[in-house]
Order: sequence, then C-alpha cells, then structure tokens
Amino acid sequence: MSYYSPSIEKLIESFEKLPSIGHKTAIRLAFHMLDMDQEKIDDFINSIVEAKKNLRYCSQCFNISDTEPCQICSSPKRDASIICVVEDVRDVIAMERTHEFKGVYHVLHGSISPMNGIGPDDIKIKELLARLSDNNVKEIILATNPRVEGEATAIYLSKIIKPFGIKVTRIAQGIPVGGDLEYTDEVTLSQALEGRREL
Ligand code: ZN
Repeated sequence: MSYYSPSIEKLIESFEKLPSIGHKTAIRLAFHMLDMDQEKIDDFINSIVEAKKNLRYCSQCFNISDTEPCQICSSPKRDASIICVVEDVRDVIAMERTHEFKGVYHVLHGSISPMNGIGPDDIKIKELLARLSDNNVKEIILATNPRVEGEATAIYLSKIIKPFGIKVTRIAQGIPVGGDLEYTDEVTLSQALEGRREL
C-alpha cells in the first residue's frame, strides 16, 4: 500500500532503477523534479533523448561515439599498431586521462564470468580477433580490471592472441586488486601502463 499518488510512485520507481539510487534518494529526486520549472524539465528530458539517439558504438573499437569511426580510431595521431583492450567505455576515459597512451582501444563490453553465465562469445572478442587478422597490429595491451573476471579474461585473450605472433602485455599491478580502472588515479594508471609486462 503506497501513500503516494500513482504517478509519483511511478517516478520514484523509475529513479530506483538507476544504479546507486536507493529508495530515499529516489523519493528526494522525484519530489525535486516536481518542483522544477517546466523548461528545466524539458531540457533534462531532451538531453537524455538526444544522448540516446546520437549514441552509437564505433564499429572498430566499440567505444561510444557520436561519429563513425570514433575520434580515436580516425585520428592520424594515434598508433593503430597498439591496441589497448578494456572492459568498459569508462575505462577508455580513464586511460585517456593519463595522456600516456597513444595507441587505439578495443572495448570488450564486459569480462568473461562463468559464474554469471558470460562466456567469450558474449563480449567483443570475435571482433578483436577480426582486427588482428587484417592489419599490422604489433602489441595488445590487456587492461582489463584486476579482479577475478578481468584476470580470467586477460589469460584467455593472451592464449588466443599469441598464435597470431603478436606481443601481448598486461598492465602492471599497482591498481588495487578488486579495483576499477575507472576509479584509479592518473598517476597509478600511467605507472601500470608504463610497467606492463609481456605475457
Ligand atoms: Zn573507435
């Protein structure tokens, strides 16, 4: 039995579906929105609709982009012979913040996790292998997160990439085990990239 009217209840439920939003925060946000000017509400809704409409994944690296291919893949300043493999589009931002990496990326959109029923075919591994066979890739840097799933993914990838005769490296420890690239500071991430070791 709810004390709120159905439309407020629905708004609260919508907020609760977002990550890190608990019931109390959802209520606060819902009531905050009801107090906002119509113009601000329209802007807010529009920004969500526009972002969703313009959002696409680069057909080469699967990073989020407004252009096809993305700005990194199409930049002449980037070295396409070095591919840094990451789990998530947010990890690309984390790596870019270091200003150290001049290669290109490949976003897996997840990691291998048998516990959660996610196998190699469920993430962008086929697409990575396709990139290896047709051009002059010299090095693959595995920058998956230092968690069980990220490590398992790195080991799996190094096994299947080695037969291509390509150097495979793993970013160095230094990122706390169980940590996220996304939340790692630039200095630590730069050092992890610098200290990468061959697998
Ligand atoms: Zn791209």
